[in-house]
Amino acid sequence: MRINVEGIVQGVGFRPFIYRMALKENLSGWVRNTTEGVEIEAEGGLERLKHFCGLIKEEVPPLARIKKITSKNIPVKGDYNFDIKESKKTRDKIAMISPDVAICNDCIKDITDPDNRRYMYPFTNCTNCGPRFSLIKELPYDRPRTTMKDFNMCHVCEREYSDPLDRRYHAQPNACSECGPQIWLTDNRGNICSSDNQLNTAVELLRQGEIIAVKGLSGFHLMCDAENRQVISRLRRRKERPDKPLALMMDNLNTVSQYCHFDKQEKDILTGYRKPILLLDKKGEELPENVAPGSKYYGVMLPYTPLHYLIFNSELKALVATSANITGSPIEYKNRSGFNKLKKIADYFLFHNRKVYLPLDDSVVRVIRGQERVIRRARGYVPEPVQVTGIEDGLALGAEQKNTICINRDDFAFLSQHLGNLSNGAVYDNYKFTIKHFKDLYQFKPAFVTHDLHPDYQSTHHADFMISNNCEEDIKKLEVQHHHAHIASCMVENNIDEKVIGLAFDGTGMGTDGNMWGGEFLLCDLKNSNRVGHLNYIRMPGGDKAVREPWRMAVSYLNRLNYDKKVMINILDVNKEELEIVLEMLEKDLNCVKTSSIGRLFDTVAALIGLRRVITYQAQAAVELEAAAGDNKETYNYEIKKQGDKFVINTDTVIKSIYNDYKNKVNRSIISAKFHNTVIGFSLTMCKLLRNTYGIDRVVLSGGVFQNEILFKGISRNLTEFNFSVYTHAEIPCNDGGISLGQLIIAGRRERRNR
Ligand code: ZN
Ligand code: ZN
Ligand code: FE
Repeated sequence: MRINVEGIVQGVGFRPFIYRMALKENLSGWVRNTTEGVEIEAEGGLERLKHFCGLIKEEVPPLARIKKITSKNIPVKGDYNFDIKESKKTRDKIAMISPDVAICNDCIKDITDPDNRRYMYPFTNCTNCGPRFSLIKELPYDRPRTTMKDFNMCHVCEREYSDPLDRRYHAQPNACSECGPQIWLTDNRGNICSSDNQLNTAVELLRQGEIIAVKGLSGFHLMCDAENRQVISRLRRRKERPDKPLALMMDNLNTVSQYCHFDKQEKDILTGYRKPILLLDKKGEELPENVAPGSKYYGVMLPYTPLHYLIFNSELKALVATSANITGSPIEYKNRSGFNKLKKIADYFLFHNRKVYLPLDDSVVRVIRGQERVIRRARGYVPEPVQVTGIEDGLALGAEQKNTICINRDDFAFLSQHLGNLSNGAVYDNYKFTIKHFKDLYQFKPAFVTHDLHPDYQSTHHADFMISNNCEEDIKKLEVQHHHAHIASCMVENNIDEKVIGLAFDGTGMGTDGNMWGGEFLLCDLKNSNRVGHLNYIRMPGGDKAVREPWRMAVSYLNRLNYDKKVMINILDVNKEELEIVLEMLEKDLNCVKTSSIGRLFDTVAALIGLRRVITYQAQAAVELEAAAGDNKETYNYEIKKQGDKFVINTDTVIKSIYNDYKNKVNRSIISAKFHNTVIGFSLTMCKLLRNTYGIDRVVLSGGVFQNEILFKGISRNLTEFNFSVYTHAEIPCNDGGISLGQLIIAGRRERRNR
């Protein structure tokens, strides 16, 4: 019988699995990798062959993903053995590379068993677990083309590696304490600690309240005791990160349940092989308040490398484990530059000598309405492809913040890891490196590059740079509107290829009229988009400065509603001089770009009720406004007016009522709840109007504002109740991390039409 298996079946222990199953069923023949996947010839009794085919489907190795199995009977060859054959060399292969995988249970047993030769060895891995994407330099995936080429396997490891029946058969990063990577501990002047057991010393230092930069799987973490308020505030001060919630690593589920609520699905995510940071509802403020101030959630992950397991092998329960970087810069992942950049933040360094080739942050996910939703897509998820159809091969350069890039070969789109804000020079360098790496890995020649409409985004400059330097021959440059890209990214993952109503709610994105959009109702498909409704325009005094200082938005709104200066000074707690400057800007219309953003509306309300005047991380005001919301069913009044062919939501009365409520000392939790209800309310009303006008009932929700759980649940539930078909994000981030995928599909469709 000849059997072909397609999917993620290479580099995940699939061939040895087939080998073992063939031995079990006493079959002869062979197995090998091919372009499409794995090819098998198996010879033996019909019953055994049938059983063998069944086993392939049922007992798949944990990391394999079977897309398709086909089989046919062929003439008997008379083989005696079952062999693993060399790969069939084929041109033009699209390689499916496994993401990095958290340590498996068998390897945990190995490192915790005093009789095992890998007892306490921090780089234990096997075919079912360990580093993958972060250490691959080139394809095909073999040890010499990974950062493990620096280490020669000892005889025992070599034997494991060559034995098809061993769990470490062809495990490229296979290693042991005799032959593999090692750890060492230094202080922040570079002195190596003299203790016999550096790991124990590191653990002891953590318990004493020191900050340690720990090199992990795909970059450094800054770690410190999560139960020690002082060390956390020291970390925040040194990192210049006063408020943004810090990620936590906890020793096991018991500890997680002490601090957070979680259900069965969330438990499976915590313990699964990807091990992302999972946002969970706090049970209370059991941990120091400065872990996640103003947030309803703790971001929690369980240990995912052997080194993490060994760190928790003592009385430590919960550590802060935040990406080690200078705020705004990419995660540090090289020993020397990591040391230089982080020595002002960390007291100690736990290094190792396994190089990281491609740095990846921890992924961040959350479960809403019974679905895992990825907020930051990186380690453990990238580079799993997304299926696309009917587009030319292209390169999408993404937006500015939370940037990712995306390329496709044929029907597979590969979305890069989260890269960060491109206005940072080091992020931009890493961006260029990532583009090159993806192009090399997937042997990719794009027919086009695509980018955002915004002329000042670094990604837009990069597109110009690619064209003007003629890095690529014959390459076309196509621009895509930001919010259309948001909606398209959500359509792709839901496999929709028809006209939809798209709700694109976010902080900001350049519109086709030159204004900043962000509260948009689009009528669009994968090629074209028509703006059919939006939030009313408000001016942003100072442009970007109004994003960092929400009180400016409140001034803009109050000014528009003709409130006088005294009122503003009173309720916004601003000094007179600053206020005068902003009012003058508004009066002279200087540096006052117009915006229809929902994000800015949230900022306005947060500032207006004295919750947040100035922010220190993106969307802070909105996060805190959501966290403040209590239980209330009321709504503020709003108006929807037709302007030309567009429906425009006017929020003047909303702001007036909020001002009155606040003046009358209505509790913030009530104001926030009513405000959320209002946004949910006008979203539903708009969709009804648009359905009546255009006869479309498919609604797609995208944009970073949908990370707001109250809005997300409220809008999707309401729309469903009124018989709309609602489509939302799961594996692709709803924020700007998904923009590159949306750009790719839209530009790819337009380009195909042109050819
Ligand atoms: Zn393992
Ligand atoms: Zn070894
Ligand atoms: Fe956006």
